[in-house]
Amino acid sequence: MADKPGFALITGASRGIGAAILARLSDDGFPVVGTATTAQGIATIERWMAERGRAGSGWLLDFKGAALETIEETVHTLEARFGPVSVLVNNAGITRDDLLLRMTEERWDEVIEVDLSAVFRLTKACLRGMLKARRGSIINLASVVALSGNPGQVNYAAAKGGILGFTRSLAQEVGSRGVRVNAVAPGLIDTDMTRELTLEQKKLLMERIPLRRLGTVDEVAACVSFLASPGAAYLTGETLQVNGGMYMS
Ligand code: NDP
Repeated sequence: MADKPGFALITGASRGIGAAILARLSDDGFPVVGTATTAQGIATIERWMAERGRAGSGWLLDFKGAALETIEETVHTLEARFGPVSVLVNNAGITRDDLLLRMTEERWDEVIEVDLSAVFRLTKACLRGMLKARRGSIINLASVVALSGNPGQVNYAAAKGGILGFTRSLAQEVGSRGVRVNAVAPGLIDTDMTRELTLEQKKLLMERIPLRRLGTVDEVAACVSFLASPGAAYLTGETLQVNGGMYMS
């Protein structure tokens, strides 16, 4: 394991922001492993790599009902094949929106499990290798709603707010061991997640964005690339807000 250079692990890399992060980190020279919940998603990732002759792989990983032990086994298998995880991007996420009074426990639990508990489990599984190597960069995808709040998204905002506290706390635990932990909080980005919004909803939201447009997946990926790079060597516990000015703090 020690003779291998290490790789970047990106969750939810089959589409949207995760696919752009995988492409960008691969362009940056990292061997990349991207996860997806379906064979089709893995095929998409592997096709992208094969067409460009890039190092890495797609990997099946569904956080729903995945215990810590299962995730640890996955990480051990990957480490045996690709070396230590040098960059972990906790990107996979879901929304299950509803107003609190109508929100079922199932919707609450599903979002907390995939958007927050999975980050705890996968980070824990990858951290031992990073500490041993005395280097690593962990980048967690939060959201503008972690800071601003959003009606209809108490579950999602709670999970993403949790990510920010998790990021700052872990950054303090592992900074002295050469591991940096940061977050990226996107605003409205053009992906499947936001394509569910109606034109009317998008128009209203656009009025709140000084740059008057949705962000692109590449603009988020560029921030992740920066946080993973030597240029960000003195950044830890930080949250980069990529939201066109929609929310400033
Ligand atoms: P998409 O809905 O486009 O993609 C979600 C990704 O997560 C897919 O690769 C999907 O895999 C994966 N995923 C979904 N469920 C699970 C699961 N149970 N286990 C493992 N992986 C899963 O999302 P975006 O690209 O828009 O969002 C990426 C991240 O950015 C998320 O964390 C999101 O919360 C955050 N974000 C997005 C914003 C936006 O405007 N789009 C704004 C702010 C934050 P599969 O293809 O197999 O289903």
